[in-house]
Amino acid sequence: MKIAESIHRLGRDSIVNSYLVEDAGAVTIIDAGLPGLYNDIPRELAAMGRTVADVRGLILTHGHTDHIGYAERLRRERQKTVWVADLDAALARGEVPNPAKGTGPFRLGPLLGFMWWSMRHGGLRIPKVEVVSTFGDGATLNLPGSPTVIAVPGHTPGSAALHFSSLEALFVGDAFATYAVTTGRRGPQVAPFTADAKVALDSLDRLVDVEAELVLPGHGDEWGAGPRAAVEAVRASAQPPGAGTAAARIDDR
Ligand SMILES: [Zn+2]
Repeated sequence: MKIAESIHRLGRDSIVNSYLVEDAGAVTIIDAGLPGLYNDIPRELAAMGRTVADVRGLILTHGHTDHIGYAERLRRERQKTVWVADLDAALARGEVPNPAKGTGPFRLGPLLGFMWWSMRHGGLRIPKVEVVSTFGDGATLNLPGSPTVIAVPGHTPGSAALHFSSLEALFVGDAFATYAVTTGRRGPQVAPFTADAKVALDSLDRLVDVEAELVLPGHGDEWGAGPRAAVEAVRASAQPPGAGTAAARIDDR
């Protein structure tokens, strides 16, 4: 599905997102969703006038299984390099347990819907990534679109946002979500399965001034009003009722 000039998303819905970004005829993939999305890659690339041969690499925003999805298959079968932050490399390789505990609040209907969606997309057996290349905060990756890395720890220790300045696009992974797979709630909010919500909220300071129009999360639809408004909405949604407006809270800091 076409999201913007040069940006496509795999799959028919936005429950678990995997993005294709084109620059000068070459492609960077952001997140590998679940294994079942692998079969959608050639068709989506064809819609962009490209093929798998044009893919230069896959960047994981973090090491959770619902983002590494088809990464190992793409690496092994098509010899594509898989990138992840150094702090999440062990998680992507399956060497350490998921730092997030439990689901947090949930509603049975949406949660069962997510589990059913995952099952149908190969979510029961997600191969760990055997080999990853790593990056640190502030790196500019030598991949199509020259994305710059902004570390946003909290969801996982090595969570990273990727800024494509030439496209005015910011991929945030699960730094926040616009759809909660566990509750069905829409709008910018702390993502489910976040290891440390307080650290995640603090990390959003790093995104506020990023020059981008389009914000693309790991779960949910794209947000077209820039990172500052998205971050304010996340903070507002994280407050207990009656605790004041997001703007007031930001001024207090
Ligand atoms: Zn996720």
